[in-house]
Amino acid sequence: MPKKKLTPMLRQYLEIKAEHPDAILMYRMGDFYELFFEDAQKAAPILEVQLTARNKGGENEAPMCGVPHHSVDGYIGKLLAEGLRVAVCDQVEDASQAKGLVKREVTRVVTPGTVSEPELLEGKEENLLAGVVWQADADGGGRGAGAFIDVSTGHFFVRRWADVGDGLDDLEVLRPREVLYEEDGLPGEILEWVERRVPCWSALEGDQLYDRGRAADLLERHFGTTTLRGFGLEPKEPAVRAAAAALAYARQTQHSELPHVTSLALRESRDRMVLDPTTLANLEVFRSLREGGKKGTLLSVLDRTVTAPGGRTLRDWLRRPLREPAAIARRHGAVEELVDDAPRRERFRDLLAGAGDSERLVSRAVLGSLSPREAAALRDTLDLVPDVLAELGECSAPLLAGLAETDPMDDLRRELHRVLAPEPSTSLDDGGVIADGVDPDLDDARSLARDSKKHILGLEAREREETGISSLKIRYNKVFGYFVEVTKANTDLVPDHYIRKQTLVNAERYVTPEIKELEEKILAAEERQLALEQRYFEELRDTVAAAAPGLSALAAALGTLDVLACFAEGAVKGSYVRPAVEEPGAPLVIREGRHPVVEATSREPFVPNDTELGPVEDGSEAQIVILTGPNMGGKSTYLRQVALIVLMAQAGSFVPVESASLGAVDRIFTRVGASDDLARGESTFMVEMIETANILHHAGPESLVILDEVGRGTATFDGLSLAWAIVEYLHEHRRPRTLFATHYHELTELATLLPRVVNRTLAVKEWEDDIVFLRRVVAGSSDKSYGIQVARLAGLPSPVVERAGEILSNLEAAEYDVTGKPRLAAGEGAPEAAAGAGQIPLFVAGGGGNGGDPKAREIADRLRDSDLDRLTPLDALNLLHELRAELESK
Ligand code: ATP
Repeated sequence: MPKKKLTPMLRQYLEIKAEHPDAILMYRMGDFYELFFEDAQKAAPILEVQLTARNKGGENEAPMCGVPHHSVDGYIGKLLAEGLRVAVCDQVEDASQAKGLVKREVTRVVTPGTVSEPELLEGKEENLLAGVVWQADADGGGRGAGAFIDVSTGHFFVRRWADVGDGLDDLEVLRPREVLYEEDGLPGEILEWVERRVPCWSALEGDQLYDRGRAADLLERHFGTTTLRGFGLEPKEPAVRAAAAALAYARQTQHSELPHVTSLALRESRDRMVLDPTTLANLEVFRSLREGGKKGTLLSVLDRTVTAPGGRTLRDWLRRPLREPAAIARRHGAVEELVDDAPRRERFRDLLAGAGDSERLVSRAVLGSLSPREAAALRDTLDLVPDVLAELGECSAPLLAGLAETDPMDDLRRELHRVLAPEPSTSLDDGGVIADGVDPDLDDARSLARDSKKHILGLEAREREETGISSLKIRYNKVFGYFVEVTKANTDLVPDHYIRKQTLVNAERYVTPEIKELEEKILAAEERQLALEQRYFEELRDTVAAAAPGLSALAAALGTLDVLACFAEGAVKGSYVRPAVEEPGAPLVIREGRHPVVEATSREPFVPNDTELGPVEDGSEAQIVILTGPNMGGKSTYLRQVALIVLMAQAGSFVPVESASLGAVDRIFTRVGASDDLARGESTFMVEMIETANILHHAGPESLVILDEVGRGTATFDGLSLAWAIVEYLHEHRRPRTLFATHYHELTELATLLPRVVNRTLAVKEWEDDIVFLRRVVAGSSDKSYGIQVARLAGLPSPVVERAGEILSNLEAAEYDVTGKPRLAAGEGAPEAAAGAGQIPLFVAGGGGNGGDPKAREIADRLRDSDLDRLTPLDALNLLHELRAELESK
């Protein structure tokens, strides 16, 4: 920091910086934004610009770097990506008019969670700022809430959290780009999550801390209501304080009251399916497990939306599928109509493809940054609306017909046509933004400016003639205004009344009284034109901003239509059919189901499979399916396919099946594969058990549970025992519908013990020493994993494969104890055997009698009986030979 005598400019800089200590200050100087001191040092490497110094070597050397003003948004984007906030400080008076130092002010603060510049946003993704508040209670628990606001669209909602897990789940799923939190009482896990996963966060302090009364007051004033009860909120609850903090911060950074934030939604889980972050990750709904990208995800297969609001709506529907069968049927009804009427679907999609992101355009207007081109995009979007609504009006599906009632915003459309030039220029400074005929004064000024240019051309021709200099040109620059330029070769022809202004290498520049007079006229006309254009455009911007609620509703309607048409298009392209979603508890029956992503991406033809869960016709019930089968058989694919079909159906999409009737599901849980969370210091097995614990605590009879190889991350016996006990628990206590894939073939014995457990297996054909995967799920169980055959297919060296085969037969022989009796499962925790289960199962009583390979036991006995202390080396070798000969004779 400088010590002494600062220049007035640096003093001004420091004063402004002091008001924004936690933001990088970009300070406008001429055509550049400059950064100084620590800001410059921190930002230069991120911006990839040279770090220099002002007053280099002097007493007050100031490190600095700068970026050109016209490309500032790109640079701001780089800083935001690093989780930094940026305060943009502009010159707020005309430099030529300023007495002394030009006045400067911070005109916007851009933060990762409050950006609204389209260049800095992902069109189809939300950009959320979260406020998080916790209210601890006496026993150390408490409840919390998160408020989420998207400044770029005006969406604003709150979530109540009954425990820490709820909060973590929401944050993980919604992935806010910036979090504000109240430190007091906040559980450590949440704080840790925020600091680890969010690029930008801050603790609320001072004015930002809303006590209960003030928080409710702020929100009520914003929404113009006298109570928050209309939003379903109690004035004193944490959600209200979280919402007040988020809204106030957003308003402050945007220097705007944010009138486009017109409501606050309380999002509750009651009417939506809950998908926790693990499930969304395991099912690869938005991000692939391996690369974390969009490729290979459900979203990538389903997203055929043609607008940004449609893309955002689709993400929302997949994140929060519906639960209520009637609401789901409304979506399916609309999709069905659009599937059946291809020309109508095409018309909708063609019309929508021309629509701009009206939600984000309106927020730009509200924030005062709508550009002329963006206004034109809004006008063109509104032009499409009457056709879209007329077409909707002819639809019979109630959801589509309902959308036809949306306000088309005709007045605004007419106003945009009246005021805006047909093809406005990009920047207000260039003029040509406002249409002819809006104001006679403007038309006058414009024609004067245009005509004077004609005069300049006329003057140029005259001067050429009078002087005889055919190469004479009248040109313009910012310093001299208009001037005559004559090449050096012709300067002796220049008349006396020419006043020399500048000498160049090859030419001389002059002015004449006549040129100056004309110039004044032109400049005055242009100035007037620009001032008037600016005024009319600002008025227009205000008109758009005032229409924010109607435009948001319209954008939502177009977004919904886009998703419905996208589902219909996907259904036709992917041969999906309409599922019947029934009341919860009804059976889940899928005929010929397919995995939507594997089917779309795999080169092999996909083999469809059936699923039945829940009560079946003969009065029995298939609550838990134990799925065994070879490695690579298709178990994981099958499990995920069932979950994805349910998720798609409840989101409103058609599904890849021949037919499906599905009892509505309240939650889908998954425990799939092994994943480390080493960053949090948790091992693979720990993660596996944490996820399983979550399922055992929360799954209920209306849930669908997918368990893939639970227990695999530990020693075989521990894993098997855990898996066994987990199935028993799900069967006896929580009763969710469950698909459990496993290589513990012993688990299949549960079907004989527990009435609602059934066995399914993936069929294979053995052929010589090879296997052929049929990918077909059939009743029954498999007692082999064919792991060694699969390893051979994978190219393991043949000595390893052969040796593994030897070891496997040894192991299989020793699977039972010396007396040949298996004794795994008996114990106090074992449930009663199913009534009528005729056979004595292996895992309960032991003594099944199939005590392994007798020859192997014989060899083991001989080894055990030999007295190694007395054996000579030669005897030992002989014994080895004998044993091997015996083995080979097998
Ligand atoms: P492991 O036990 O080794 O984890 P798995 O039984 O879970 O194996 P998957 O990973 O589901 O097997 O599938 C193995 C391969 O088979 C994948 O490449 C998958 O794309 C393909 N596959 C699975 N199911 C089908 C199917 N029904 N039709 C066609 N290909 C399939």
